[in-house]
Amino acid sequence: MSSEFTERDGHMHVEALALGDIAAEVGTPFYCYSSAALRSRYAALATALAALKVDIFYAVKANSNPAIIATLAAEGAGADIVSGGELRQALAAGVPAQKIVFAGVAKTEEELAFALEHGIGQFNVESFAELNSLNQVATKMQRVAPVGLRVNPDVDAGTHAKITTGRKENKFGIDIAAAPEFFKAAAAMDGISARSMSVHIGSQITNLVPFELAYRNLREMTLSLRQQGFSIDHLDLGGGLGIVYDAENEPDLSDYARIIKATVSDLDCRLSIEPGRFLTGNAGVLVTKVLLVKEGEGRDFVITDGAMNDLIRPTLYEAFHDIRPLTQRSGDARLIDVVGPICESGDYFAKSRLMQPAKAGDLLAVMGAGAYGAVMSSTYNSRPLIPEVLVDYARFHIIRPRMSYAEMLARDSLPDWLDKTKP
Ligand SMILES: *Cc1c(COP(=O)(O)O)cnc(C)c1O
Repeated sequence: MSSEFTERDGHMHVEALALGDIAAEVGTPFYCYSSAALRSRYAALATALAALKVDIFYAVKANSNPAIIATLAAEGAGADIVSGGELRQALAAGVPAQKIVFAGVAKTEEELAFALEHGIGQFNVESFAELNSLNQVATKMQRVAPVGLRVNPDVDAGTHAKITTGRKENKFGIDIAAAPEFFKAAAAMDGISARSMSVHIGSQITNLVPFELAYRNLREMTLSLRQQGFSIDHLDLGGGLGIVYDAENEPDLSDYARIIKATVSDLDCRLSIEPGRFLTGNAGVLVTKVLLVKEGEGRDFVITDGAMNDLIRPTLYEAFHDIRPLTQRSGDARLIDVVGPICESGDYFAKSRLMQPAKAGDLLAVMGAGAYGAVMSSTYNSRPLIPEVLVDYARFHIIRPRMSYAEMLARDSLPDWLDKTKP
């Protein structure tokens, strides 16, 4: 867990501030992020990889709030994006276009054109169909798109099925064996300059062996392509580094660096990685208030004002999130389900968790909520999106205000024939 969220005098703090004080000001539920935690995660990775000169592109989809992107960009990070929306967020955060990589299985022509217009650093292309459409769009605009091929190295990352991406049966990338064919096709296209390969085998990877296997495959293919006369001068080693939510072993960054050194560092290629979760996951918490406690069969239900629409990871990935009271309470631990008020059995933050009893009005922190939290939230059950707060030592800023009911209603439109407010 990040040391920026610590208990002092019986109250949980984030950097120099008591989380309860922030809650009193912004209301619950809300997401709270620590700038210091973001910076220290970035620094740990940058330091471990410094000798290998690996560029770090933050995978924006983990948490795309421009304030988060800007915090990491100020430390030196570029951005790895997967949509035109994320591209706009990265630009809004001040990331130079040259330091933006556009990944993702399929991109629309509008997205490609917008990215070309802004001169982004690279497009990671995942299919022949996409290569063709990028070439068409680029040729029409009289541009040359810098392209990296995302290969599927057929490596099992050993992680949850919904976040494994490097197996042959996954939709991602092109079978690595087809790389020569891809570079041959690309070489014949006026709108394409393809000199890079990328891999991304999955997420929340804590055993580093799959990285080693994937990077070895990448190395072999790089050598083979060069023998066939293709220039490869950049390798994008993907994201996926895992974090500690529960009892995982945090991947050892010096081991990770050693793997990169042993597999691809002698190829005279520019190297980059695209971590998302590793940088932001433990830099954020979700703060929620207990609405009521209901006694059930053999367990208590602690019902909170936060719900699965705010943080879907527990139900989507069966993910574990530590849950801590903001203020310590006494009492024997008991079996508790922490659930939201939504009409779904999947609406929970924790199931059968042995924890201290909570009372109505208590504030709880759902830990490790900085990645794939706010970005996956929705207004399901017509619950307005909750605010996000960024702390920087003793100051904080609401980086996304709570959506008001008026804003939520304003997104919809009644047709004339149903609108009783119109004559
Ligand atoms: C999601 C994704 C990442 C980031 O994954 P993390 O597990 O959050 O590090 C990196 N690259 C690509 C292509 C992705 O799709």
